[in-house]
Amino acid sequence: KRLILIGPPGSGKGTQSPIIKEEYCLCHLATGDMLRAAVAAKTPLGIKAKEAMDMGELVSDDLVVGIIDEAMKKLSCQKGFILDGFPRTVVQAQKLDEMLEKQGAKIDKVLDFAIDDSILEERITSRWIHPSSGRSYHIKFAPPKVAVVDDVTGEPLIQRKDDTAEVLKSRLEAFHRQTEPVISYYAKKGVLAQLHAEKPPKEVTTEVLKVIS
Ligand code: ADP
Ligand code: ADP
Ligand code: ADP
Repeated sequence: KRLILIGPPGSGKGTQSPIIKEEYCLCHLATGDMLRAAVAAKTPLGIKAKEAMDMGELVSDDLVVGIIDEAMKKLSCQKGFILDGFPRTVVQAQKLDEMLEKQGAKIDKVLDFAIDDSILEERITSRWIHPSSGRSYHIKFAPPKVAVVDDVTGEPLIQRKDDTAEVLKSRLEAFHRQTEPVISYYAKKGVLAQLHAEKPPKEVTTEVLKVIS
């Protein structure tokens, strides 16, 4: 299966991804995770991406298309993939279609994590993540089993620098202006499925598994 997850920051993409990945043995490609790793490692890519990320703006299409292209070549995703946080602009979506066409492949389903903006601040400002795996927790809704450490590795959790109420505002603006047109793009192709992303995590999982089955 070749799947795309689209939704505003905090809509639950990162929470649902590992479940879909396990169920169907897919590769999980999250451009946000890749960019944060590049920023932390201070690679040339990370240095170029950092300013936009800190301000809650999108990184340039060329940079993200480059990392996706490279990641898809490197990983062998025979059973398919989950793209989490990509494409976020219509240009990225068109570039992705070109890449897939070359392999005679196409997107099977685009999951739209539909949710009201008003719910997202609480989700984002109490989110804690395990940087090396991308696993996310929430102080109230999905607390780690022990203190602020990752359930699987026991490593410390961190809060993302851009997970503040202020930066969230710009991220939501970018979502509405640049990413919502991507949802229409896939609706026209007939591959869109809308989810009720405001529901509790388990109910969202049930919907997700139903639409991709
Ligand atoms: P995204 O990857 O779309 O930015 P996350 O999956 O990281 O979003 O979720 C954002 C925060 O909200 C996390 O702290 C997560 O634990 C929590 N969360 C995820 N899904 C739900 C849900 N259905 N209900 C309540 N909280 C959720
Ligand atoms: P979220 O939790 O908001 O869904 P991500 O972890 O997916 O956030 O992305 C964090 C930041 O990384 C974004 O605010 C943006 O600056 C950058 N980014 C991630 N994916 C893309 C993309 N496909 N195009 C442009 N910028 C991106
Ligand atoms: P600075 O203080 O130099 O601006 P930060 O320490 O805030 O940088 O890190 C920049 C971004 O990288 C933040 O979004 C943060 O969550 C993320 N980050 C920090 N450490 C790691 C890591 N080890 N792996 C992946 N991402 C990380």
